[in-house]
Formats: sequence, C-alpha cells, structure tokens
Amino acid sequence: MIYKHDQASIQGFLEDTSNLKTGHTPGVFFPETVDELAGLLKRDGAEPRRFTIAGNGTGTTGGRIPMGDYVISMQKLDRIDEPAVLSEKHAIMTVQAGALLENIQIKAEQSGWFYPPDPTEKLCFIGSTIANNSSGARSFKYGSTREHIARILIILPGGDRLDLSRGSCKADKQGTFHFTLPHSGAVTLQRPDYRMPATSKHNAGYFSKEGMDLIDLFIGSEGTLGVIAEADLMLIPRPASLISSLIHFGTIDDLFGFVKLLKEPENGISPRAIEFFDKNSLGLLAQKYPDLPRESEGAIFIELETTPESDEAALDTLFTLMESCNALTDNSWVALDREEQSRLREFRHTLPLLVNDWLSRQKESKISTDMAVPGDRFRELFDFYRNSCEQEGFVYILFGHIGNEHLHLNILPRNREEFLLAKVLYRKLVEKALALGGTLSAEHGIGKLKAEYLVGLYQERGIMEMVRVKKSLDPDLILNIGNIIPAACLETENH
Ligand SMILES: Cc1cc2nc3c(=O)[nH]c(=O)nc-3n(C[C@H](O)[C@H](O)[C@H](O)COP(=O)(O)OP(=O)(O)OC[C@H]3O[C@@H](n4cnc5c(N)ncnc54)[C@H](O)[C@@H]3O)c2cc1C
Repeated sequence: MIYKHDQASIQGFLEDTSNLKTGHTPGVFFPETVDELAGLLKRDGAEPRRFTIAGNGTGTTGGRIPMGDYVISMQKLDRIDEPAVLSEKHAIMTVQAGALLENIQIKAEQSGWFYPPDPTEKLCFIGSTIANNSSGARSFKYGSTREHIARILIILPGGDRLDLSRGSCKADKQGTFHFTLPHSGAVTLQRPDYRMPATSKHNAGYFSKEGMDLIDLFIGSEGTLGVIAEADLMLIPRPASLISSLIHFGTIDDLFGFVKLLKEPENGISPRAIEFFDKNSLGLLAQKYPDLPRESEGAIFIELETTPESDEAALDTLFTLMESCNALTDNSWVALDREEQSRLREFRHTLPLLVNDWLSRQKESKISTDMAVPGDRFRELFDFYRNSCEQEGFVYILFGHIGNEHLHLNILPRNREEFLLAKVLYRKLVEKALALGGTLSAEHGIGKLKAEYLVGLYQERGIMEMVRVKKSLDPDLILNIGNIIPAACLETENH
C-alpha cells in the first residue's frame, strides 16, 4: 500500500475548508483495494493505531483533519460502475467511496439517469457525502443523501466488513439492532434514545428513530463508526427539461409570501430547489454582476423540473405567482436552456468564492451557521440573525436553502476583535435556534468545530448515548476521534 510521510505529501491532508489549523499526522495511507483498507484497520495484536479518514477536503467542519492520527485517504478507491437498470424508473449505480460526485453525476446523466443529491460543491467524494449525509439545493424536493442510498459496504474499526442493504437490519421495539460480523460474531447495538428535532433537514449527531434501519446509523455518522468503502446509489430518470430563475423582491415580506406560495402544491408549481440571497449577498455579487437591481432586498433562486410540453404552462404559473407577490419581474433572470442555466449556476457558485476572496484580503476566518428550525419558527430566527448582526455592526451575508428553513449566516470579521465578538454571537445564535426547536446542523455536520455545541441539542445524556454506540463499534477508539463527540467525552470511562 502507498504510504507517504514527507511534509509536502501530507500538508494537504491537514486542511479542509474550515480553516482549522491545528492538524498534524505521522503519515497518510492510500489503500488501493478494499482488502488493503480492511487490512489497515485489522486488529493484529499490536498497539492500535488511530486513523482519520480523508475525502477530498471540501468539508467545512474540520472532520477530516487529523489531530495526531494517521490519515486514510480514500482517493484511490474511485471505481464507478455502469448503472444497472431495475425498471423504467429505477437504476442502481455501484461506486467506491473515493469517486468524485461530479463524475458520478456526469456518468449517470450520460446514460439517461439522475442522482439527485447535490451539495453545492461537486468536487467531493461520494463516500464523504454519505458519511456526512450531505444535502443541498435539490434537497427541497429530493431530501438528503440518505434517501438515495440502497446499500453500503462498511469496514469497521478492527477490520470487519459489514455489507448493509437498506431493509436488511432494523431496530426492534426496544431500539436494539442484532447482526453478525464475519470475525467478531454476533453484535447487539442499542440506538440512542433521544428525539431528533422536527426540522425538514437535520444532520447533527447519530440518526435515531423508532424502527430505524441500521444503514441510517452509519449514514451521517461522519466516519466515527466505520469507513464507507462502497455504495449502491439509487438513480431516477433524468428530468426532461428544467427552468431556473433568479427572482428579485423589493421587500422581505413579499419574498417570504412568494416562498410560501411556492411551497403550496395546489399552486401547480413544484420546485426542486428554493434558495435565498439577501441584499448583502447581492451587494457582494454585484462586483461581478453589476446589473443586479439595486432596489432588490433579496432574491429567490428556483429550479423547476418540467417537460418540453409543460414548459409554457409552468412559466405562466411562475409569472402569475411572481406578480401576485410584487416581484421585480423586469429585473428577474429566467434561464431556459442549458447554457443560460450554467451561467446562473455559476452566479450562485460565485458567492462562496467572493467570500473567500474577502476573507483572504482581511486575513480572517468567517463564522458561519448551519442551523435550521421548524417552519413556523423560521421567520423568528431569520429576524434574529439580521437584527443581531446589525446591532453588532458586523459585515455579514445570509443565503441558502430557504425552502428547508435553512440559511447560512456568514459573519465576515474585519479584524481579530470582530472575530472574537462574532464567536460570542455564534453561541447566542445556536441557543436561539435550539430554543426554537431547531438543529445545530442541517447539512454540513458537526466535525470537530461544532462538537462542543452538540450538548446543547442532546444534553449530557444524549452525548452519553452516542458514546455508547461509538464504543460498541469502535472499542479501541481508533476512528475519526474528535468528530461529533468531543474527544474528552470518549476518554471519560463513566461519562
Ligand atoms: C463551497 C462549498 C459549498 C458546500 N455546500 C454544501 C451543501 O450545499 N450541502 C452540504 O451538505 N455540504 C456542502 N458543503 C460541504 C462539503 O462539500 C460536504 O460536506 C462533502 O460531503 C465533503 O466531501 P469531501 O470529500 O470533501 O470530504 P472531506 O472534507 O474530506 O471529509 C468530510 C468528512 O467525511 C469523512 N469521510 C470521508 N470519507 C469517508 C468515508 N469513505 N467513510 C467514512 N467517513 C468518511 C471525513 O473523515 C470527514 O469527517 C460545501 C462545501 C463547500 C466548500
């Protein structure tokens, strides 16, 4: 197996997009086969080694950054099989964990199929998107990654293989899973007994629900319970046609009214994505797109799947809804063909790039939120975000998945003092979202950066439930230590 330990080779593995700078590792392993991966994790009587799993480093929470552990890079396990067609409506694509999401989506589309999960950043590995239960704009219609996974092959700490198909192992009435491993034999495992928040997206801590499927415990567990080596993805037919649009509003109330209408199915329109840009995001984007209307208080980006036959009717309905909510119709941007749609997609992707430029000029890190709340509490959180930032005089932008009541607030500090003040505010924002019945993370996960806040969601007891699950599957505590569960909680015997 390839192993590298020179500084030039390992440097890239000490980073993701979180700006966490304290990572260090003795070296990086690059397994080229699943057998090599399993061999690496095998208990061989020697002192167990600790490992951190590395995807492609686009994570935002420091999840792949090793704190002294060896790194396992998944990049050589990148096979993508041809789709296996099950019916007119379903196909399965088997992929290895290190395959790039972008390549998977291209390959699916080339044969007329579609893999819906679409975190904005496509240069991520599929295994990481499963480990993080990633979601994105299209999750409004299609849900998160877990809803599109039929099977995963997991290599457990210790080297055992667990090949899990959806439906093959479910928790009994007491919340216990029973399964057998090739080497370790029979295993019983108790799901955590906390209740997850009633938000439309949630990605904080281990999944737990009555009668749940064991596969869902691993999906979203951020590499703390095993290494995902391979997966069967569920594909659906590629949508025949698409309409994308960026629609501006002169008031936030009109914008909220429009989002409400879009979400009512009886209005005859069924978007797959409903995204938001606040005035400040548009102000930043105006550097590259000077024609954006200055009177816009905010914009909604939507994507509608249609057919060539239904295009016109969908556009009529869209314009009617826009008019009824006083949209700035003349300034809105409707993209009907692929070329124009890719220009609009580029517009959306320019925002994080501009934020990064801004931060590197200031030599500072942003403070960003990933919370979601139940629908009826969303406006309260939205106003709280904006009022708090205005009161502090922060530079900030607010954007993201408004269809799922899930926005990202990015506070952009101009100096160290503002950064420290923004950190204090972050804690208050978390407390507010949790008090509204929300979640700490709707999509980016907890990683190392947000582990200390998770106790606010599940209390000490919930953290202990997760520690118990972790220790059942990883008794030597070798895998992705520090992700989700603070490392100190794992080390306390009776925690
Ligand atoms: C500009 C930008 C936009 C983004 N937008 C979104 C978005 O809309 N929605 C969203 O959900 N996320 C988003 N993300 C976050 C990120 O893209 C996802 O979290 C993605 O899943 C990370 O993939 P990666 O391969 O880069 O993983 P890494 O950052 O390398 O690793 C992420 C985590 O996964 C673990 N891991 C990696 N591979 C495996 C494996 N095979 N088995 C078990 N654990 C593993 C790692 O240990 C780590 O904890 C965005 C990121 C950026 C930079």
